[in-house]
Amino acid sequence: EKVLINEQLINREEASFSFDDRSMYFGDGIYEVIRIYGGFPFQMEMHMQRFQRSAEELDIPFDYDVKQSLTNSLLELLKENELNEGIIYVQLSRGSADRNHLYERHTEPLIFAFTKPMERPQQAMSEGIATYLTEDERWLRCDIKTVNLLGNVMAKRKAADHDCQEALLHRGDLMTEGSSSNLFIIKGDVVQTHPANNYILNGITRQLVLDYIEEHGKSVVFEPIQVEDMKNIDEAFITSTTSEITPIVELRGTVHHKLTVGPLTKSLQKRFDEDVVKTEQG
Ligand code: PMP
Repeated sequence: EKVLINEQLINREEASFSFDDRSMYFGDGIYEVIRIYGGFPFQMEMHMQRFQRSAEELDIPFDYDVKQSLTNSLLELLKENELNEGIIYVQLSRGSADRNHLYERHTEPLIFAFTKPMERPQQAMSEGIATYLTEDERWLRCDIKTVNLLGNVMAKRKAADHDCQEALLHRGDLMTEGSSSNLFIIKGDVVQTHPANNYILNGITRQLVLDYIEEHGKSVVFEPIQVEDMKNIDEAFITSTTSEITPIVELRGTVHHKLTVGPLTKSLQKRFDEDVVKTEQG
């Protein structure tokens, strides 16, 4: 099995990088997770664009040429590892320097990537998951896909400790997103999700689902959902690259409520499947 380090494919056992990498000391780096269906990447261009944006927001050099050559390297890695169904993880760190909060602009960035087989979460997608509502304790630039994920991992652990598969975060009275997913709710004829601003990561899956909803002739309210309103909704689901469109059937933590897998959720899943099949067929 190969991994990518900078421009080179090397054996995983031989892969190494600097002790002083800034992603170790400061979480000073960004990442993307790209889904692979039938050996083909899903929405790779959108992921690479978000990757570039994250880099720009953190002042880590990543220009068009690097983006193009990285895209090619990732495709090569995919082929080399003969990955059929799974993910590519790719990380860009500011690189190696003596530990110092102040970064210098001449540091050589480090890019690495690996592939991992992963099946689609069929059971969660058909039966739904339990979620745990808890305070969003993250910073105020959640729009950047940084490897600095402590607020997310702490919330995820808390959810698991309450037998829930995902944490749903709220800042005070307002829902933001999941610990590693975006949140949608449906009430009557209204679909609602958090606007794409600094409080959430603008998910690639979120953006696809918004297109599907539009195709459906429905409109979306882009406003944070009130925590209290979570007791009075008809359907809810999370979206992400790995969980796709996963229905929520139970809320615990701040608010307790039970739900069933609803018709709009199911029809959006069906629409998503069509795009997966297209990808699988090349
Ligand atoms: N929000 C957060 C905090 C996430 O970590 C993720 C996925 N890693 C998402 C939303 C969903 O993004 P995407 O659909 O691009 O995977």
